Amino acid sequence: DHICLSSLQLNYSPPFSCFFTKQADCTALELLKLNGYLSFHGISAAARDWGLIKHMPPAAVLHPDSVHDIAELIRVVASSSSNLTVAAKGPGHSVNGQAQADKGIVIEMSTMRGIQVMPHGDEDCALPFVEANGGELWVDVLEETLKKGLAPNSWTDYLYLSVGGTLSNAGVSGQTFRHGPQISNILQLEVVTGKGEIVICSASKQPELFHAVLGGLGQFGIITKARILLEPAPQNVRWTRAMYSDFEVFRKDQEMLISSSATTTSMLADQQEQLHMTFDFIEGFVVMNTEDPINGWKSVPFSPDQMTASMLPPDAGSVLYYLEITVGYNLEDVGPALEERVEKMLAPLNYIPSLMFTTDVSYFKFLNRVHDLELNLRAHELWDVPHPWLNLFVPASSITTFDSLVFKQLVPVEFGGPILVYPVNRNKWDSRAATVVPDEEVFYLVAFLRNALPSGPGLESMLDDNARILKICEELRGKQYLPRYTEEEQWKLHFGTDRWNAFVQHKHMFDPHAILAPGQNIFPRRQADDRLLQLASS
Ligand code: FAD
Repeated sequence: DHICLSSLQLNYSPPFSCFFTKQADCTALELLKLNGYLSFHGISAAARDWGLIKHMPPAAVLHPDSVHDIAELIRVVASSSSNLTVAAKGPGHSVNGQAQADKGIVIEMSTMRGIQVMPHGDEDCALPFVEANGGELWVDVLEETLKKGLAPNSWTDYLYLSVGGTLSNAGVSGQTFRHGPQISNILQLEVVTGKGEIVICSASKQPELFHAVLGGLGQFGIITKARILLEPAPQNVRWTRAMYSDFEVFRKDQEMLISSSATTTSMLADQQEQLHMTFDFIEGFVVMNTEDPINGWKSVPFSPDQMTASMLPPDAGSVLYYLEITVGYNLEDVGPALEERVEKMLAPLNYIPSLMFTTDVSYFKFLNRVHDLELNLRAHELWDVPHPWLNLFVPASSITTFDSLVFKQLVPVEFGGPILVYPVNRNKWDSRAATVVPDEEVFYLVAFLRNALPSGPGLESMLDDNARILKICEELRGKQYLPRYTEEEQWKLHFGTDRWNAFVQHKHMFDPHAILAPGQNIFPRRQADDRLLQLASS
């Protein structure tokens, strides 16, 4: 099933022609000198992802032994007249084939593991950081850093995602309003470019590559290591959910809560105090005014019997909203001072007074909360179903219109998955990174996370709903997060002229043959004599 490439060095000549239709592809691969191995059979998992919408089988899967195997593969492909493309694949939690390579080579990043915690930094950086290999899962990064009482400060809701995979997008969650997305919290990267070069880059070393790769949709290099900033981790969190029936009240509370974190300059004592009184995590959700356990208000309390229909205000409409917020604390903080602090933090909020639910859990359990849901869905065979997910960034100035056009009108009662809506501060995003966000100081992450269950409306109809919602978002000057487009014109519109020109320029510089991440559907594969390469050299 696989060929140990060290055997090639002993002049073993495998029948590569069985797997590649083009002679140049076989010739290229026969030159490889690796310590890892290529698999040709049993590789159907490389054509599957979370979406279960696209299936593009590769010709082979590389299981690299080290960064040198990745560099060797790309260098050999880049210097040949082969047509092969190469996609790094983490756990494949993409929705639309972004980590697939049609008849190309998928690099299985799960073999690229390794985590080193530096609680006191090093000679280059006095701040605590963790150096994690690109194939590491965030859950393992968390477990290792917690052993030293530290943790990264910016997360995704689900932790079984790879470091390289989320950093190629942004990595957004309830901490983003305060710390920025994960890509704003990276000190240094090790990257293999589309020319097969291994480069260490940071905001001061090779900054153009560093910023291009962060949020760069895998187009400019494969992230093999990342240095991630750490902060002291609380032992526990007070986790609160508070319900609203009026969108304007809900939205004003959310924006008020994130406003104290908008400052980026050095902080005065009273600003520090303000931050101490800011929640660590702020997200929001839309639920239906029904008893449905997935999309209705029954999904809000931590224990379903904490709420009955009679607790809802009589004028509540078809859609309800809830805020999810946390305060971190250590066991030594437990006592009246903590209670008073939390009470003070909740006091300005205008949620429905009887509909506030609270629980206390460990920091690890809170960050890993989606895993509990995963275990439950797996037990009911509801995890491996198609996921036509849609993630958007909607400007704050348009979110009320979005609520009335989409949440109140387009979302069917039995939606079949969570709907997230929460604001973030744009000044926590580094504008040099490649992720595209709306041109407004506050914008909302809006996520439609539907599961296409056999009993539901069907995948095609869900994809049609998504197309309608995306159109409204674009008309309201929003942007797609984890974007997927098929036409160059659509990508240009997504990026806007200046950012698109910079994106193309970076492609010329770092992956001139357009070998990397073909599943993103942005650049067609180029041959050595192509116009792109002529442009690059001119
Ligand atoms: P893959 O799907 O394997 O890869 C994604 C892209 O990155 C592909 O183009 C791939 O080629 C490229 N890539 C992979 N590894 C590397 C690497 N080392 N170097 C360069 N490119 C690479 N996102 C959020 O921001 N916030 C959330 O809260 C959040 N929650 C999620 C919850 C669930 C249950 C799921 C399934 C996804 C969630 N996501 C969230 C989306 C997630 O960030 C993306 O799916 C992302 O692609 C990471 O998934 P992955 O590690 O499986 O990457």
